[in-house]
Amino acid sequence: YCSNEPNSLVSDACVSYATLEDINTEVRPAIQFLTQHVDFFTYYRLDLYGRECPFWSDDAGFCANRACAVELADEKDIPESWRSSELGKLEGPKASQPSAEVKREEPSPFKGGLGEDTAESCVFEPLEGDKRDYCVPDDESNGSGSVYVSLLDNPERFTGYAGTSANNVWKAVYQENCFNTQAQSQSQSSSSNSQPFGGAFGKGAPADPNAAADLKNVMDRRKHEVVQKNLISPPPEEQCLEKRVFYRVLSGMHASISMHLCHDFFNQTTGQWGPNLQCYKDRLHNFPDRIQNMYFNYAILLRAVAKLRKNINHYTFCAGDKRTNEFTRKKLSALTDSIASHPSVFDESVMFKDENSIVLKEDFRTRFRNVSRLMDCVGCDKCRLWGKIQTSGYGTAMKILFEYDENEENGKNPVLRRTELVALINTLGRLSNSLYAFTRFGAMIERERVIE
Ligand code: FAD
Repeated sequence: YCSNEPNSLVSDACVSYATLEDINTEVRPAIQFLTQHVDFFTYYRLDLYGRECPFWSDDAGFCANRACAVELADEKDIPESWRSSELGKLEGPKASQPSAEVKREEPSPFKGGLGEDTAESCVFEPLEGDKRDYCVPDDESNGSGSVYVSLLDNPERFTGYAGTSANNVWKAVYQENCFNTQAQSQSQSSSSNSQPFGGAFGKGAPADPNAAADLKNVMDRRKHEVVQKNLISPPPEEQCLEKRVFYRVLSGMHASISMHLCHDFFNQTTGQWGPNLQCYKDRLHNFPDRIQNMYFNYAILLRAVAKLRKNINHYTFCAGDKRTNEFTRKKLSALTDSIASHPSVFDESVMFKDENSIVLKEDFRTRFRNVSRLMDCVGCDKCRLWGKIQTSGYGTAMKILFEYDENEENGKNPVLRRTELVALINTLGRLSNSLYAFTRFGAMIERERVIE
């Protein structure tokens, strides 16, 4: 644990490193089964190519390495109810958008276009998202760049994407962490259109980032400022819990991505993929805070998945036929039950409790949405794919943690879209893998020490 003792508690969570590892040993096989063998969780539909970076233009940041490319899935391998041809039949979200609180007995906006057996939640991806969303949804039905990918065919691993483009995205991601009073009041007044960089442009900033002609110039200038000052620094410990949590989530996600690219690295000499110890040493071994944040993220993802336990009983999976749906539910329920059998590892109820909470929560949500939009600025297709999945996974976890009542089985809780559930479980899978890779690297370092 570098300088973190196995039995010490992970800061801001209520669990030790050792306990999280024990839980991981127990639940990892179930997570791997879901993410490697259950179609519902191995196919992901997203707008990978259709959205320009809304914050700056960066043509030079495009990664042309073969490892950066994404292999697309053939739609005929996808269950019929998820195909775009089926989505196209819908009047769907464009025709009439039911709110998240829509009652089940209300008439269908799809007018039975999908046939009796297909539930709306199979295909319904609200265009604008719910105001309780922590991510900008990658609309399943609409985008010109929407594609299906098999996550098994496109593993998150070393791609060679690096340099100014990658660095600028990370810096802008951390810049979202600079909460301040001005940003809080700004986000209160214009939450859904709020700009990245915490509304730091002041009142004159255009409300719609895509429509504003001069926004790119402003953003380019702002990006330059981000690069000039070194903005990648953790918030001071005296910051409130919510702001620390926000930073930990970003840093833990970054650490997990670094762990994967070091663990599944391409050795140019041998032509083989495998762990690269030096890569791990350079990026993670000497940074116990980054490791701690990765463990922290595992704790919050576990808590979010456990909190879904009762909801799963009523979820419509649309995996093709009844038997497959029930199989998917059974396997997911086994995972949620197994996680929930442990004492809770994170207490979200202590967050957003004081008098400023409403503003702070809105700001928190807006900033995380901006982080999700920043993924369209990633110049490597495969990194963008996994960046989008993971920001969506964390956004979904936050939605469950902060907006869900775990005892409410259906009804008042926000809608959980298919893409959100798939992202959540795959992000949990990524973190589970990161903990495993961390143990492997630890063993390699120990071996090296013994040999010396
Ligand atoms: P970077 O990882 O770019 O980090 C930049 C700076 O951030 C560091 O110098 C340090 O000051 C700080 N920092 C680093 N880690 C942390 C942390 N955990 N917490 C806080 N601060 C930190 N490359 C791949 O090969 N495969 C991928 O799948 C992949 N996915 C990516 C996804 C996204 C969203 C982005 C933005 C990049 C991705 N990359 C990927 C690129 C990769 O993350 C690095 O940017 C790249 O390898 C260059 O690394 P670097 O050494 O310059 O440091």
